[in-house]
Amino acid sequence: MRAAEVLLADLGISDPRDIEVEAIAHCVGVTIKYRPLVGCEAQIIGYRDRAIVYVRDDMRPTRKKFSGGHELGHWHHHRGLSFVCRSDDIGRPTDEKSRDAERLADAYSADLILPSFMVAPRLERLGDITLDGIVDIAREFSASLTATAIRLIKTTRQPVILVVNNLYGRKWQWPALGAGGLRVREDLDARASVFSAVLTADRVERTKKEPANYWFDRRHVEQFDVQVQSMRTVEGEILTLLRILDPRMIEFYG
Ligand SMILES: [Zn+2]
Repeated sequence: MRAAEVLLADLGISDPRDIEVEAIAHCVGVTIKYRPLVGCEAQIIGYRDRAIVYVRDDMRPTRKKFSGGHELGHWHHHRGLSFVCRSDDIGRPTDEKSRDAERLADAYSADLILPSFMVAPRLERLGDITLDGIVDIAREFSASLTATAIRLIKTTRQPVILVVNNLYGRKWQWPALGAGGLRVREDLDARASVFSAVLTADRVERTKKEPANYWFDRRHVEQFDVQVQSMRTVEGEILTLLRILDPRMIEFYG
């Protein structure tokens, strides 16, 4: 188990509803306070074995929770130090192997709020991952849809790829282990359903089949269909869950 999960286990927490960041912080000598902040989203002021964390109070509950967890991540990895974290520093979907302090803090927060030992059994009950299923699990864990989706994708062996487009037109993709080496093309075909999802906020689009060449730039890939489902989150990101339907596609191109 990872550090944040060990802490949860030590505290006897086994239900997502009991993951209260303020109470957990208290157990490791940290007080979390919510208040207006200028120029940063959260900060931790550490001194010896005690710390105080300030989190900006005008954000969504899921974001405040993640930011609190992020500061606890700094506390775990860099005890006694102080950090000032801007919005840009917190919750950026980047390389998990990074040793950068902000990424370490993010990874800790994700482990605390969506611990694998609680997520895995729910994933099993869910069967095939869908965006609707992700919405339900996110609600149960009081976590953002994007963070929940990333956690499920990293846990599953299903042949799925999660694609996230953010407000600034940047795109990330997380292929699950079961998707082999398949990666979505950089220049998405304008016919791909993700473009219609731009228009509807906070509603899961119905699942549809699309020719694989809308999504993959590989020779003769159009002989296959993929299943896609998109939605726009309240944070403004567009999540697309893409499922490879034919195992031969992974065999040929993965
Ligand atoms: Zn930070």
